[in-house]
Amino acid sequence: MIHELPKLPYELNALEPWISAKTLEFHWGKHHQTYVNNLNNLIKGTEFENLSLEEIVKKSSGGIFNNAAQTWNHTFYFEQFSANPKKIPEGKLKELIDKTFGSLDQFKTEFNQLALTLFGSGWTWLIETTPGTLAIKQTSNAETPFKNSEKCLLVIDVWEHAYYLDTQNARAKYIENFWNVLDFKVIEKRL
Ligand code: MN
Repeated sequence: MIHELPKLPYELNALEPWISAKTLEFHWGKHHQTYVNNLNNLIKGTEFENLSLEEIVKKSSGGIFNNAAQTWNHTFYFEQFSANPKKIPEGKLKELIDKTFGSLDQFKTEFNQLALTLFGSGWTWLIETTPGTLAIKQTSNAETPFKNSEKCLLVIDVWEHAYYLDTQNARAKYIENFWNVLDFKVIEKRL
């Protein structure tokens, strides 16, 4: 089974000025593509050759895991943006955010802090640990909560390649920009 780079659900320049076309050209077009290519090369002739991407993430380790999880994580990341995002969650998502964090603003403050302070390369997630319970979680490198059967709802990529072209060393500025294109409509559907 050949894994493919999913198309973006928007044009390359759709997220400007918050995430530039140049960043997407490299982050999606080169980095994400490379994880997909590496995965296809690594699984040839192995027990993982005919498994779905999700099964590979759950069952593999080492280089196969790194490239499978990075393929999955990036698809999950790029899918949640829109040029016309819903900026305030409603319904069950709003209820759970209010119940867990007190308010949307407080959730964003705590999420931003963990995204900002994650040392090295990795991801910061909003997850549902058990039904009705939300949490924020940092993962290093390619690690992904769904390997541990935690439900992923929202993610920010804080590898430097996600922001260096747009904001250079200023990770905080990238995190601030992120909320301008993050579409809560997508996050509500994931819950
Ligand atoms: Mn990335």
